[in-house]
Amino acid sequence: MTHTFNERYDVVVIGAGHAGCEAALATARMGLRTALVTLNLDLIAQMSCNPAVGGIAKGHLLREVDALGGVMGVVTDAVGIQFRLLNTSRGPAVWSPRAQCDKKQYRIEMRRVLESEPNLVIKQAEVVDLVLEGQDGAASRRVRGVVLRDGRVVAAEAVIITTGTFLNGLIHCGEQIYPAGRSGEPPSQLLGEVLRKIGFRCGRLKTGTPPRLDGRSIDWSRFEAQPGDAEPTPFSFRTEKIDRPQVACHIAFTNEETHRVLRENLHRSPLYSGQISGVGPRYCPSIEDKIVKFPDRLRHQIFLEPEGLDTNEIYVNGMSTSMPIDVQAAMVRSVAGLENAEMIRPGYAIEYDAVDATELLPTLETKKIRGLYLAGQINGTSGYEEAACQGIMAGINAGAAIRSLAPVVLDRTQGYTGILIDDLISKGTNEPYRMFTSRAEFRLQLRIDNADQRLTPIGRRVGLVGDDAWEKFCAKQERLARVRQFLAVHRPAGEQQTLAQLLKRPEVTVEQLEPVFREHLPGDYRRLECKALETEIKYEGYLRQQQRHIEQLQRAESRRIPSEFAFHGLPGLSREVVEKLERVRPLTLGQAGRIPGVTPAAISIINVYLDLPERPVARA
Ligand code: FAD
Repeated sequence: MTHTFNERYDVVVIGAGHAGCEAALATARMGLRTALVTLNLDLIAQMSCNPAVGGIAKGHLLREVDALGGVMGVVTDAVGIQFRLLNTSRGPAVWSPRAQCDKKQYRIEMRRVLESEPNLVIKQAEVVDLVLEGQDGAASRRVRGVVLRDGRVVAAEAVIITTGTFLNGLIHCGEQIYPAGRSGEPPSQLLGEVLRKIGFRCGRLKTGTPPRLDGRSIDWSRFEAQPGDAEPTPFSFRTEKIDRPQVACHIAFTNEETHRVLRENLHRSPLYSGQISGVGPRYCPSIEDKIVKFPDRLRHQIFLEPEGLDTNEIYVNGMSTSMPIDVQAAMVRSVAGLENAEMIRPGYAIEYDAVDATELLPTLETKKIRGLYLAGQINGTSGYEEAACQGIMAGINAGAAIRSLAPVVLDRTQGYTGILIDDLISKGTNEPYRMFTSRAEFRLQLRIDNADQRLTPIGRRVGLVGDDAWEKFCAKQERLARVRQFLAVHRPAGEQQTLAQLLKRPEVTVEQLEPVFREHLPGDYRRLECKALETEIKYEGYLRQQQRHIEQLQRAESRRIPSEFAFHGLPGLSREVVEKLERVRPLTLGQAGRIPGVTPAAISIINVYLDLPERPVARA
């Protein structure tokens, strides 16, 4: 079918969630005319679940998005109402910032940022079809634009789909089932059908959310308060200081009665009645799941978290459920202090379509359709930060392709973002994928304090890091160099050892050396920066050893597998291994080795054949 285009853009981004906002800002800031199309303008950057950002490993991802020039960190710093640095009792590799945000202000601030971008136009509309050029299955098949429900056809060089939980979304609340993208919003059914028709392998996943309560009906005296940090740690490298007053969250517990209510009603839970077929997140189970899986636990911790400063709405973290509303009410009221709690929104579960991410190249472009990129929950992930990091990478790569620049692919040693994308495109996922620090081979290299060192030069190169941020980055590197040098040579009076040697001792910390810094390097002492140097010094030997492993991995990554390389017919490869390799079509030997079921022996065989002058070539 031929289309007459009503409007033309370089890039169309479908969806203004966390992936869509980062993707659209990236392409717009790269100088490309970008249209961001979303179902509801008032719900841009809506936090579907908890209005909290960061936490273990997710905080790392957010730091990386920020270092690349993304906006989620800056927006969080602007609207956060409680900040905590988690895991500080453990090593610095796993410290991670978390912030409770004002949900409404987050949307408003993100929309303000988007609206102040000259190359970006935001549109409220539903995308119902893609305009494609080329035959089914042809390698040259590419996207040319999108069709909107109101009949307009919009041309684009690249289209980035970030539709979250909306594709064929189906909400479950007890016995009630209805189509929705998330509570109160319609699903995206037509676009879901289009993707299936193109032939993308799709799966069904599930996620859930807890009830929300009216804060006025809670007896707060019954709970322990959990305040924010006295010295809040900003998310963004561009934020100097956060000095707003913070609010407290509160800690509560379920009890025997809560568990009895849930156990007696399990047959009414869509999870256990067979009503839900999608696979949910194992690491973030619903409360009914917890009761079943941990029958011996007498209580489960829950957190009562405010959704904002000018609302009484309270999020009940830890009580995600799809139980019927009467069971939810009884469950809530069984908790001491919540006897009179009013439930203002019930919890629910949602099932939705996700595309098998092995359909994607490392740039997040689809293998089947050139110029078409997928990012966020549609690729099987769960979480705002997981979505945001894919959004920015899809944006950067769509922009790079239009400008005929080299693609930007982060490897597993450069960031959690690289790990997430590599895991998804090499292995796919059969449950909502979230980031954990344990997914990293080189955890100590991937800290929150050095995300800028790892990624800001890349963000600058592609045009996402502005002059101010770049100057700040350079000034910080110079400051670090001065402090590093000082530590290497300075010996306190009467001491044989330099400060660096002293810092190697477990009991010596930079905080103890603060007076020395203040005397000799006034202006250069920043606690967290110096803490990062302390980490470098204390773990120097270990970091050096990891560096050798990183170089080995990078050698495997640099062994490229040509696109025409034929895996079938290679002597010694089993049919099963060949099938797996053909399905993913890895671009490097390193990626091939990470496909589940592809053995080290198979990798050695491929390696040998990569060296042969006459390589096996697939018939066209
Ligand atoms: P979303 O934020 O979902 O945004 C999708 C966007 O696409 C929206 O702007 C929508 O308007 C737009 N859109 C959809 N279809 C179309 C179309 N055809 N045309 C135009 N625009 C379209 N994550 C966690 O980490 N922990 C949790 O406990 C958790 N619980 C969740 C519970 C629920 C009920 C839901 C819905 C999500 C939950 N999440 C949770 C996931 C988290 O909300 C998402 O991972 C994250 O928001 C995904 O971001 P995204 O940008 O991919 O998509």
